[in-house]
Amino acid sequence: KILVPQAAGEIMEQLNTHGFEAYVVGGCVRDSLLMRTPEDWDITTSANPEQVKAIFPRTVDTGIQHGTVTVLADKVGYEVTTYRIDGEYEDGRHPKSVEFTRNLTEDLRRRDFTINAMAYSDRDGLVDIFDGQKDLQQGIIRCVGNAQDRFTEDALRILRAIRFSAQLGFDIEEETKKAITVIAPNMLKVSRERIQVELTKLLVSNHPEKIVEVYESKIAPYICESFNQALKTFSGVERLKLLPANKHMRWAGLLRHQLPEVSVSILRELKLDNDTINQVKTLVSLWNEEIPAKKPDIRKVMSKLTPELFSDLLLFQTIFSEKSYLDTLKMVEEYAKEIIRDGDCIHRKDMAVTGKELIEAGRKPGPKIGNVLDTLFEEVIKNPEHNQKDYLMNLAEKL
Ligand code: ATP
Ligand code: MG
Repeated sequence: KILVPQAAGEIMEQLNTHGFEAYVVGGCVRDSLLMRTPEDWDITTSANPEQVKAIFPRTVDTGIQHGTVTVLADKVGYEVTTYRIDGEYEDGRHPKSVEFTRNLTEDLRRRDFTINAMAYSDRDGLVDIFDGQKDLQQGIIRCVGNAQDRFTEDALRILRAIRFSAQLGFDIEEETKKAITVIAPNMLKVSRERIQVELTKLLVSNHPEKIVEVYESKIAPYICESFNQALKTFSGVERLKLLPANKHMRWAGLLRHQLPEVSVSILRELKLDNDTINQVKTLVSLWNEEIPAKKPDIRKVMSKLTPELFSDLLLFQTIFSEKSYLDTLKMVEEYAKEIIRDGDCIHRKDMAVTGKELIEAGRKPGPKIGNVLDTLFEEVIKNPEHNQKDYLMNLAEKL
């Protein structure tokens, strides 16, 4: 028995009262059976969208062309979708048309994997026409129906298969696996954004090492050639999961052997956001540079990074560097704490002298001011006790 949230249960009862069928379906059923907490509860129903809207006072048309209406209950939105059969897929991604149906089996048949094609209601219990529960128990990702046909309809399912295998620690069933390689060229039809979303979910999952499947299944050349090359030369995949499960750390872990510019161009092609791209670039540039256990050197590195990214860098180095560097790294960490505790100047904005003050003291405005400030900053990084106005003004006069 699945414990459905009360509000979702009430929505289903209401639909029943009006003579319609209603089930929770897909990811929430899968996750409940796995004793995982579902992200959201989707409801599938024989009622068409107009009928759903007539029953509930507060609804939002979130995907009406696909038959989805969001029903609001206690501030939580539940997606209620009419049973549907997807028409032929136009571009390997979007169905040309969707056709509503009154038959649950047909709705389950259009879904991607057996583990995602189960429905449940308190009234009827588990509806599991494609043996999804068995595949869940055995840890298998298997297409509903003929795998080649299903991947031909929608090539994004290829990446979804690998992504679910990484999130759940499952294996991809043999026929499904073969079909992936055969239909691989269809990846060209899938937008880079959608690909990226799946790859990121895969990388931040419990089994980021499954990224090797992306290479071995031969889909990577159809995603982006430089990404394919990066996967080809990649090693140490088992260590990826030691990194915290966040976007920039896992992507940086994957791309750490690339030149920083190459990692940036791969991530741009995959449409990652600029913040992540910049963080990855910094980590890829610096992870292999040993930091000497001396405060001026440490302050210099710190001056280039936000405090968060600096601590990410140390963690990254702890995981991927040579053993011989680990003792140094421990000291670096200690010293960095002291630097922060003592309030040493590590950022330009904290310098005791500004460009404006130099000009007020009689220096001609112009690019040379920048050079003087650079030199003063270097001095302060070396000797934080020199971060005093008089001292720096004096020094500036000699430059
Ligand atoms: P999660 O949200 O945890 O990533 P999910 O299974 O809920 O996993 P969604 O993308 O939210 O995945 O989709 C909900 C359900 O819709 C799936 O469980 C599946 O039944 C169906 N589905 C989603 N995308 C596809 C697709 N590309 N092809 C076929 N069915 C799909
Ligand atoms: Mg979902």
